[in-house]
Amino acid sequence: MTRVGLGRGGIPDWLEPMVRFCSRCGAELEFGPIEGEERDRLACPGCGFVFYVNPRLVVTTLPITERGEVMLIRRGIAPGYDLWAQPGGFLEIDETVRDAAIRETLEETGLRVEPGRIVGLYSRVPAAVVVVVFEARIAGGRPTVTRESLETRPFAPDAIPWSDIAFETSVRALRDWVSTARPDLTLPDPPPTRDLRG
Ligand SMILES: [Zn+2]
Repeated sequence: MTRVGLGRGGIPDWLEPMVRFCSRCGAELEFGPIEGEERDRLACPGCGFVFYVNPRLVVTTLPITERGEVMLIRRGIAPGYDLWAQPGGFLEIDETVRDAAIRETLEETGLRVEPGRIVGLYSRVPAAVVVVVFEARIAGGRPTVTRESLETRPFAPDAIPWSDIAFETSVRALRDWVSTARPDLTLPDPPPTRDLRG
């Protein structure tokens, strides 16, 4: 398991090398107090640019079959290679959350979906992400292998592969979904997370 720590300003260790220089003038950023700000921040000593570092939004779906199963993908890329997760990805700057949910699901599974209710919204501080999870109706398409997925297949609520789920946020979302879809089922204790990136 990769341990992820939080460095100065609460910025995860893995993210810090990416926020070293001012994107406006190229000088090295410094971390410290900023006038009018409640907390210390990264800022540029050269031009005064304040670099705000915020979590990114990951948009995902739980595509549900007519039989009430959830379609998951076996991931073909890191992080979480060879483990199961719901389809999803980062929201692009020029699209809505709903459009991103449809696009990412099609790209990773070959399925066309209609996003419905939001199952939940999950913060993961060490990964610097917020994951939104839609329940989605499958409206067309066929499950396909893609660059990002080794396999796409349905799982009944009582057959979720709990010990082979890639991300903590996926475990939390699937637990919330199962507890609504099948309130009679007893959920297993959450397994240890294998990868802290999501
Ligand atoms: Zn600067």
